Amino acid sequence: MPDPLNAETRPKLVALIVAAGKGARAGGGLAKQYRSVAGLPVLRHSVALFLEHAQVDQVRVVIAEDHRAPYEAALSELMSDRLGAPIIGGLERQESVRLGLEALDLEAVAAGTAPPDLVLIHDAARPFVPQHMLGRVIAALTIGPAALPVLPVIDTLKRDAGGLSSETVPRAGLMRAQTPQGFRFAEILAAHRHAAEQAFTVTDDAELAERAGLPVTLVAGSEDAMKITTEDDFDRAERLFARPLETRVGTGFDVHRLGPGTGVILGGITIPHDQALQGHSDADVALHAITDAILGAIGDGDIGAHFLPTDPKWKGASSDRFLADAVRRVGERSGVIRHLDLTILCERPKIGPHRDALRASIAAICDIAMDRVSVKATTTERLGFTGRGEGIAAQAAATVALPADRP
Ligand code: MG
Repeated sequence: MPDPLNAETRPKLVALIVAAGKGARAGGGLAKQYRSVAGLPVLRHSVALFLEHAQVDQVRVVIAEDHRAPYEAALSELMSDRLGAPIIGGLERQESVRLGLEALDLEAVAAGTAPPDLVLIHDAARPFVPQHMLGRVIAALTIGPAALPVLPVIDTLKRDAGGLSSETVPRAGLMRAQTPQGFRFAEILAAHRHAAEQAFTVTDDAELAERAGLPVTLVAGSEDAMKITTEDDFDRAERLFARPLETRVGTGFDVHRLGPGTGVILGGITIPHDQALQGHSDADVALHAITDAILGAIGDGDIGAHFLPTDPKWKGASSDRFLADAVRRVGERSGVIRHLDLTILCERPKIGPHRDALRASIAAICDIAMDRVSVKATTTERLGFTGRGEGIAAQAAATVALPADRP
């Protein structure tokens, strides 16, 4: 994976949040994106979830011209240099998205910089998108130009003919589309321009990509990413937010031997050294300890149980996939990783100069903010196998919040 600290190699990613709707359908007179849920405006939740993600470079909100005051009020306490100025949208959602994309493009031209590489287009009315779902959308953009989070249709579908059920609609192959939808910037801007020229309307941005012939990769959405439309939805969102969580702490420990080679892979990055760590996979002792800590917190075995060390499939494997799998298991349980604390035990190489690169790399793999990752290092005073430079040890603690299944 690209070094998440290296702005030269990492694709530039902007989150465009569409909040220009004036719908006050749920009552109260205020447009729904400015109403409060769980004590904060809906828009504030939506902006915060993108600022939380380590791979999002900038967050921009498309608002209605006469919503500047509620916008300022909603986000005034959200300090971040990654939150850019609001962009004024149009009358319809599709126009608002296009104006948002055009503004990003124009600003880049004016500044003499390149436009964003990738854009996530999100409806402000979905304030509770889990971080792991954001991560899936972003990851899918490394393999294709468009990514769409979806959920299966579970209920049987009927057609209403004036109060009578006239038909059962086959639901095979049908999915429910959510946001954020992810795109390569240039492709989705071109698709929006084409739609504006041809004056056709679509229901979401993925439809524009489909019409433009772009492959749209499906990724798993989440019921938590519900859209708030009706008064009932506000009640449901309050309940979702208020559900009790319990805090679990897991620990992990790992050792790998040092041997011939150059450079040790630690925390997903290569640190220059005159030796290399030996193992069946890439021997990333730091990621192995963190993976086991997370699995420990959710009580789901250990890294060796899920990725058999004898399986030739994992020979030389990059260990970020082991960690990403543990993160996925947390997400499956609607859990959230609150904090990771890693200690690396070795005499050499010196870890200190690489501390922030390690934190950024681990944060990116786990879809959490960098300030939720701690990396420490210590020597063992030349005692023991680490002291003699025979190997490197790592220990980790993971703090995970899970929905409480019992009081
Ligand atoms: Mg190991």
